Amino acid sequence: MVEVVGILLILATALFVGYPLLQKSSRRLSFSVNHQAEDLQARKEEIYAAIRDIDFDFRMGKLSQEDHAALREQYKTEAINLMKKLDTLLPAAGKGSRRAKAAGSAPAGRFCAQCGEPAPAGDKFCSACGANLA
Ligand SMILES: [Zn+2]
Repeated sequence: MVEVVGILLILATALFVGYPLLQKSSRRLSFSVNHQAEDLQARKEEIYAAIRDIDFDFRMGKLSQEDHAALREQYKTEAINLMKKLDTLLPAAGKGSRRAKAAGSAPAGRFCAQCGEPAPAGDKFCSACGANLA
């Protein structure tokens, strides 16, 4: 257990040293959303590097399987949280284009009364559920 605390301390120190460097380079640019995303990307890379490190330590026998699994889980959670943050920061291109496509194929105000799908002007029957649109 003492070993784990030592490793965590080393990691924390590495982050402490590494983070101001990241901050310094980011401060040169304006606080744009893209830049925040870049910071998160950089952080993600760090986490991946840390995971590679613990994998290596595990193979070298410096980490017990239990400690390795616990650390890995911790990093994975952090990586997932970062990816969620990135998702909210970056414009959801997929969502926007899908909405635009739906709007393009269905003139405003015409929807299937049965299932609510957008109904193109010429269609007599709903393409989704087959209900009569007339
Ligand atoms: Zn329908």
